[in-house]
Amino acid sequence: MLLSWEAVLTCGLLFVLLITVLILQYKRNQLKKRIEAKVQMFKKAFDISEDAILVLSSDNRILYANTTLQKLFSLPEEFLERPLDPMPKIKIKKEWVPLDRFISGLHQNNHDKMHSFPQSSLAVGERGMQSSIPINFYVDRSSAGSTHTQWYHIIAIHDLRKEFERSQISNRHKLTNLPNQLQAQKDLNKLFSKIHLHNRKLALLLIDIDNFSQIRSIIGYEQSEEILIYFARYLEQLAKENTFYVYHTFSNNFLICLPVIETVDEAVYLSRQIQKELGTFYKINGVQFHLSASVGISIYPESGTTINLLDRAYKALNEAQKSGYGHIHVYLPNEIEKKYDELELFNAIHDAIGKDEFEVYYQPIVRTKDKEVIAAEALIRWKHGEYWYIPPDIFIPMLEKSGFIIELGRYVLSEVVKQQKRWEVFKFKPIEVSINMSLLEIEAEGFVENVAQQLASHQIAPELIKFEITEGAAMENEDIADRQLRELKKLGVAIALDDFGTGYTSFSYLKQFPADVLKIDKTLVDYILENDEDQRIVKAMIELGHSLGMKLVVEGIENQEMADLLASYGCDYLQGYYFGKPLPAYEFQELIRR
Ligand code: C2E
Ligand code: CA
Ligand code: CA
Repeated sequence: MLLSWEAVLTCGLLFVLLITVLILQYKRNQLKKRIEAKVQMFKKAFDISEDAILVLSSDNRILYANTTLQKLFSLPEEFLERPLDPMPKIKIKKEWVPLDRFISGLHQNNHDKMHSFPQSSLAVGERGMQSSIPINFYVDRSSAGSTHTQWYHIIAIHDLRKEFERSQISNRHKLTNLPNQLQAQKDLNKLFSKIHLHNRKLALLLIDIDNFSQIRSIIGYEQSEEILIYFARYLEQLAKENTFYVYHTFSNNFLICLPVIETVDEAVYLSRQIQKELGTFYKINGVQFHLSASVGISIYPESGTTINLLDRAYKALNEAQKSGYGHIHVYLPNEIEKKYDELELFNAIHDAIGKDEFEVYYQPIVRTKDKEVIAAEALIRWKHGEYWYIPPDIFIPMLEKSGFIIELGRYVLSEVVKQQKRWEVFKFKPIEVSINMSLLEIEAEGFVENVAQQLASHQIAPELIKFEITEGAAMENEDIADRQLRELKKLGVAIALDDFGTGYTSFSYLKQFPADVLKIDKTLVDYILENDEDQRIVKAMIELGHSLGMKLVVEGIENQEMADLLASYGCDYLQGYYFGKPLPAYEFQELIRR
């Protein structure tokens, strides 16, 4: 049977149509697959982003949220097409606003531009404002159709917590967790920018634990790390009590910034306090481990500009270390520093004596039982130029190094005997004055002869003079110290062993030491009210001294409680700021008027 040509044509057309439909369907499927693959790719790309991304419809239904956002907002599993609930709040310009209100406010005037709000905050869910998250916030909007009547909002949130964490870590010392040099630099820049406004002084103290690599080689890595941690905690505590800043710059190096000071003495005083603490605070297997630190100090504005202040502190530290262990050096303005230059020291000291820049101050020492002032310690002061008062801790080590301490010692003795004579003439009550002496002085030829001659020429009773030698100095050259001290005693003057408790004096050494008085070091009583171990030690030392026929003085008494406690231990004499600071002679003599 033959088909009509119309039928053939129809069949052919149908076939072509079918093929076309099949091809189109195939193509559509392919396109769909390609689109799905693309969507999948974008999804993945958004999911690995650290930023949270959210697409909201104009009625706040969630059209898309990447995994970071799902986590950040703790979205339920079936979150798509649901409204955002609870509504997060965003803080812009100090005001918390619900996110939906905030976004719609932005686009009220139909602006299509992207808005960005760096450094804002977000509070999500029930956690409230307390747990707000620092963020950078971006929002944009796009039309959902050709009519421009429907919109959706694309939101990106950059969580800044990780960055903060990272910057925190990089700004702290790994071992001690104290802020590091990087942080110091940042803080200092801020402080410096304000400093001109307030017309104040600022001090930087660089502390270096002496001899640390040797210590490390002796006690091992772990123990030495422990020392650093221990020291860091101590500095941290001290910083809290005194409101200053402390940094662990590197290894055995720490930086302190005193943001407001009146005089350089405050920085020196703090350094001494830290040095003394370091000298006593660490024990290994119950045995006290003696550490020392060198300190370099720079002061704004005296030591330089804010730009070079830290460098100057390093320079000062370097200077301090040149003088040996445990020294403090202040970086002084050019002309003063010049005088500290070793080559010029000779002239400086002669000038100073000639220009009357040295002055002997007297600190009262009281009898414990009735608190009557019965003695004084002569403490030298260098008043340089108009305002500069240089504490003895700074210039004495230098003078010791150059040998001019001998000259200074002679000066102090002659000032004291002259003063004694004046007091005698003006009928003040007789007062025994203690004079500090360095090992160098006592080793020097003619030392005893000079004392004898001074006493004789001013006709001063030798009972009115006492010499103090530190435990450390006495032990450095035992033979000479012993011989000379005995010669001195023959003149009738008394001897005190100073800073007792800071060295390693043995009982047998102490027994034969020709001292009349033991002066217990201030560091041993600094924390005596809180520390019962210190109480036991000091009590035992007083008993030991008494059993050897010596009298006891405790220095560094700063309050009534300390005085009472030491009185209860039977200490004979007390010295400290509580009874009086070192005073110029004319002020001191008010205390000994008859
Ligand atoms: P030092 O002999 O141990 O003198 C005691 C130091 O402690 C003095 O510091 C004194 O002012 C201070 N001091 C006394 N009571 C208290 C207190 O309650 N609290 C506090 N925080 N401090 C107190 P200064 O006058 O700065 O003398 C420091 C060191 O300089 C002296 O220590 C001494 O070793 C040395 N020195 C002072 N004058 C002379 C001197 O004429 N010749 C020699 N060779 N050395 C001297
Ligand atoms: Ca002394
Ligand atoms: Ca002392």
